[in-house]
Amino acid sequence: MNLALSYADQAFAEEVRLFLDEALTPELRAAEARNPATFCEVSAIAAWHDILSRKGWVAPNWPREFGGPGWTVTQRFIFARECERAGAPRTFTFGLAMCGPVLMRYGTKAQQDHFLPRILDGADIWCQGYSEPSAGSDLASLRTRAVREGDHYVVTGSKIWTTFAHHANWIFALVRTDPDAKPQRGISFLLIDLKSPGISLRPIVNMAGDHEFNEVYFDAVHVPISNRVGDENDGWSVAKYLLEFERGADYATRAAAMLGKVKQVARVTNALNDAFARKLSAAEADVLALEMIELRAMSATSLGQSVGTTASMLKLKGSELIQRIDELGLEALGPYASPDQARAVLSHNQFTPVGPEEGYAVTARYLYDRSITIYGGTSEVQRNILARAMLGL
Ligand SMILES: Cc1cc2nc3c(=O)[nH]c(=O)nc-3n(C[C@H](O)[C@H](O)[C@H](O)COP(=O)(O)OP(=O)(O)OC[C@H]3O[C@@H](n4cnc5c(N)ncnc54)[C@H](O)[C@@H]3O)c2cc1C
Repeated sequence: MNLALSYADQAFAEEVRLFLDEALTPELRAAEARNPATFCEVSAIAAWHDILSRKGWVAPNWPREFGGPGWTVTQRFIFARECERAGAPRTFTFGLAMCGPVLMRYGTKAQQDHFLPRILDGADIWCQGYSEPSAGSDLASLRTRAVREGDHYVVTGSKIWTTFAHHANWIFALVRTDPDAKPQRGISFLLIDLKSPGISLRPIVNMAGDHEFNEVYFDAVHVPISNRVGDENDGWSVAKYLLEFERGADYATRAAAMLGKVKQVARVTNALNDAFARKLSAAEADVLALEMIELRAMSATSLGQSVGTTASMLKLKGSELIQRIDELGLEALGPYASPDQARAVLSHNQFTPVGPEEGYAVTARYLYDRSITIYGGTSEVQRNILARAMLGL
């Protein structure tokens, strides 16, 4: 979609571009360019988070009262688009995009005062402890127990696929506080210090060769009751609210940037024939349609409304579109799609905008992005939600 930007928004876009030109060092751009996953090296994320935090731009979606920039929906969209175009690294999103909004809605004043500034300045890095070995899509069957003992809960159990736990110092976790209640009724939402005695991690390496997620074990870990968010046994409401943010993430800006890279690769490898150009155009049309839905969702949240099932639609369409673009990237590389070949063929070419790292990232990203239709709720689960809510099935 071509947003007909007002003069004020055009000026804002220019301000963002100028800032990015200056603030994004070659090292930060390179770290993101060779990133095969959601998050690039943690040192680059920390550096970028810090730069944005100092500028007051690290939490585009937060209201001003909690330290956000107070931007309009259009400004947030412009900022996300320009960051993606400029190849900026991600920030510490588990705190900014998940834990923060939850604390704003469900947290006590003391929790907000303590944790929100530490999310903004990067003092605390969060990870998400929802999934367990036998509780993924069927999250409500989770078994990690929290038993009250005086002014603490004693937490025992394990989490799996915990992205960034090896870099984080806090985890927000769903735990079972009433084993006799119906599955959704007996869950609570806890904030747990990862340095607490009794916590251990085991790395899991994904098929792109990256260590991004982990298993997290809790062996009689003491967590103050004051670290519970929301009422005891009402953690499911908190969990569902948070998932709206996870599922409603900004896919369109990322998809648009990826399409741009695929076109560059296709030029390098001479894959840009009519048939391939038609596939690119079809993907481009879908990116524009996705942008429209994302803007609608952003507009709803900015009015304090729930995104509801739109989050599922965005997750489903966005993740599948990104996988389609990954496949176009591989098609553009043709017979040179293995990581080493991609690096070699693109580095031997004189065409400058695509560096060898980017050629490498096309293939590695394809591998990594197989996970995108799994995390945050699989495509099948999103289809179930939409079928129930929209088709009444
Ligand atoms: C890269 C990555 C990062 C992740 N990061 C985190 C994280 O930081 N924190 C966290 O808590 N979790 C994380 N996860 C876990 C993720 O949320 C789960 O993998 C996801 O919810 C699916 O659960 P599962 O893996 O147990 O698969 P299962 O639930 O066992 O599903 C297996 C298959 O069965 C299908 N299926 C299941 N139920 C139904 C149904 N009712 N109808 C139709 N089909 C169904 C699924 O679609 C899937 O194809 C991450 C996962 C990945 C891949």
